[in-house]
Parts: sequence; C-alpha cells; structure tokens
Amino acid sequence: MAEYDVIVVGAGPAGSSAAKQAANLGLSVLLVDKETFPRSKPCAGGARFLVSELLDFDLSSVAQRKISGVSIFAPSGFRVDCIPENRSKPGITVMREDFDHLLLIKAAESGAQVMENCEVIDIQESSTSVSVTTMDGETHTGKFLIGADGMNSRVAKQLRFYAGWRNDSASVALEIEAKVGEEKVREICGEPGNDDTSLIQLYFGEFPHGYTWCFPKREILSVGACCRQDKVSNLRAGFERWFSKFKDEHSIEPQILSDSSARFPVRPAGRMVKGRALLVGDAAGLVDAFTGEGIPEAIQSGILAASAVREAVVASNPMALSAYVEDCKRMILSELNVTQSMAKLFYKSIRNMETLCSFFRDDYYSRQLIGSAIGGIISQKEAKRKLTFRMLRKNPRAALSLYL
Ligand SMILES: Cc1cc2nc3c(=O)[nH]c(=O)nc-3n(C[C@H](O)[C@H](O)[C@H](O)COP(=O)(O)OP(=O)(O)OC[C@H]3O[C@@H](n4cnc5c(N)ncnc54)[C@H](O)[C@@H]3O)c2cc1C
Repeated sequence: MAEYDVIVVGAGPAGSSAAKQAANLGLSVLLVDKETFPRSKPCAGGARFLVSELLDFDLSSVAQRKISGVSIFAPSGFRVDCIPENRSKPGITVMREDFDHLLLIKAAESGAQVMENCEVIDIQESSTSVSVTTMDGETHTGKFLIGADGMNSRVAKQLRFYAGWRNDSASVALEIEAKVGEEKVREICGEPGNDDTSLIQLYFGEFPHGYTWCFPKREILSVGACCRQDKVSNLRAGFERWFSKFKDEHSIEPQILSDSSARFPVRPAGRMVKGRALLVGDAAGLVDAFTGEGIPEAIQSGILAASAVREAVVASNPMALSAYVEDCKRMILSELNVTQSMAKLFYKSIRNMETLCSFFRDDYYSRQLIGSAIGGIISQKEAKRKLTFRMLRKNPRAALSLYL
C-alpha cells in the first residue's frame, strides 16, 4: 500500500508548486528536499508577471524591486530600453532564499508533508507504486512521483528519462551578489524618470551564446554571466573583464556577499512522463533558451503535473499522466520553441546581435514588442511574428543578413 498519493522530490519553485496544487486537489503529498530552508540558490531572481499570476498568494513580502522593462546593451555598447507602454504587468525581483522558502511554506500550509535536509538517494518503481529512499535510510512509497530535483535530477537519471545534459543543451552561469546600497542600485538600474520602477540589464557581446547581466535587488545588484556550455571556455575570465569595466563605469567597489556558479538546461527533455513518474521545471529542461529564465515554467509545469497526477489517482491509471505532456506542449513548450529559435538567430554571431540591437534602437514599435513580450503582455509567439514582419518591412536588407 502506498503511503502517499504523490511524492515530490525537490522543493524549488517546481516542486513546491506541484506539492501545493496536489494538496489543494485533495491528494496526500510528501515533499522532500535535501536542503534545509531557507536555502540559497544561484539565480538573478527576475520573476516576470506570469509568476505572480500563477501563484494565488501575495508576493509583496519577498519582492525586492518592481521591474518595468529591460535595458539591452549591444556588443558595441549602446543601450536600448524596452519598456512597454502597457504597465499593467510589472515583474519583480526576489532573493531566491526568501522566494523559495515562501513557496515551501505555502505548500505545507496547503497540507503537503514536508521533509527537509532529506536527500533522496534511491528510487524504485513497481507496477503499482514508486518508492524513494532518503539519506537517513527511510523509504517512502507513493502512487506517483514528481521529479522536481533540478537539472541534475536523480529521478530523471535513475528512472532512465535521460543520462545527463549534453554541452549544447546546457548553459553555464555564475552569479555574484554585490552590495552597493539602495541609492546606487537606483542610480544604476532605476527606470529613467520613474522613481518607483527599475530595469533589468542584459549586456551582449562578451560571449558568443549568452550574456552578462545586472538585476537590481533592494540594496544588492545580482551580476553574472551565462553562456551555452559548448560555446565558452572561460566564463569567469569574460565575466571579470566585464565586471571590472562595469565597476569603473559606475564608480562602485561593492561588498561581495556571494559568488556561486551553476548550470541550467536550454533544451526540453525528450521525455517528461514515464511509468508512474513525471519531470517538472529544470529537471524537464523547461527553461527559456534566450534568457535562461525558468521560474515561471517551473511553477506552471508543477501545477500542470499535479493536476495530471490527480486524474491518474482518480482513474487509478498511470496512462492519465499523458495529459501533462499535452498541457506542457500547449502552454509551455509552444513558447519555449519560439525562444529557442530566437536564441538561435540572435546568438548566431556578434554581427547578428549588433544588427538586431541597432534595429531595436531605431524602432520604437520593436522596443514595445520586446518589452511587452518580456512583461508577458503578449506571447513570445506573437512577439516573434510581429518582429519578423516589422523588420522585413522596415529594413529587409538587415533582416535577410541575419540568415547569411
Ligand atoms: C545563475 C542563474 C540565474 C538564473 N536567473 C533566473 C532568473 O532571473 N529568472 C528566472 O526565471 N530563472 C532564472 N534561472 C533559472 C531558475 O533558477 C530555474 O529555472 C529554477 O530554479 C527551476 O526551478 P526548479 O524547482 O525546477 O529547480 P531548483 O530551483 O533547482 O530546485 C530543485 C530542488 O531540488 C532539490 N534536490 C536536488 N536533488 C535532490 C535530491 N536528490 N533529493 C532531494 N532534493 C533534491 C534541491 O535542493 C532544490 O531545492 C537562473 C538560473 C541560474 C543558474
């Protein structure tokens, strides 16, 4: 007899959202994480409006800054601000230790049983259940299992979803939390002419398939770099070059609070359901290949997975889990496919990055589209279609040069 309807391994945004949704749907849930919360996680902490829309509780206690748009810096150095006129969907920045902890608390409040400091070291599946064994030697059994254990997912590896991520399917990233004080954060990232809102900054050109960033928190700047793993040999050296210029430009000598590195997947896993198990979030490779964002996808996939598990529990049939794949295709993968193709074109060469940034600089309508897509006011699909037509009409030569 299974002790739980579902066991969720990993309590990041994907796992906590899945556990909360499953508990709200009346399932008995065990949520297990190897860390004790609040735990830190290398992340720039940008949460687009969709994150607030997906979660049915207030995020103001963990919001660090309100984000109205993005500043893009071209390889040659000029800046392009993309801020949608429609300000109905502002993003926020968060510190992941606070944000993830809040999500975990909400899952527990919904009725999920939470076990922290409890690494899953073994997983066994039978025809009627899945069991997980933790570091302390305990074994727990569930009717179904959700693998929300991030990009190095033990669930995925042990249940043979995949063996690992190839270098062209993953990005490497490093992130530094640099304390500069509230005034400097505002001076560097504040939206010009608006005291209340800030812009996230993306700098292109240092890496062939990635960027450096500066995201504003209350007193801290999250600065970092990411690049597809097969395209970079020394991410740290490129970052240090950029960071040294950045510090000089803004006359800052920040106190470094943390310096960490991690990888994230940039391609969806070939399989997301197998037998009695599902993968969600980073474990399923649900990350925007252009920006590296994965928090909204993690939450959304967690919610969808929990709903599919409920159907499977009610039907006593693992086949019902296939609804999760269909929902993901429709609601998540259709958008990620677009960002995948945009990344392919934008990161094709430094020349392409420069051409596109120049076009955006000179075209107010395109800047609106980018701001609106990043803000979630329009879909990535709609933004790509409109941007393509716009560029072909306004500057067909530049548009065609992107494919040469
Ligand atoms: C440097 C960097 C910057 C980023 N910036 C952004 C950003 O600004 N905005 C954005 O949207 N996304 C960003 N991302 C991506 C985002 O962090 C991930 O997509 C998101 O965290 C995925 O959530 P998740 O719940 O799937 O996985 P995770 O957040 O990785 O959570 C996985 C959890 O599983 C637990 N776990 C792992 N193995 C086990 C085990 N064996 N047993 C028990 N527990 C286990 C871990 O402790 C962890 O708590 C960034 C990523 C990186 C690396």
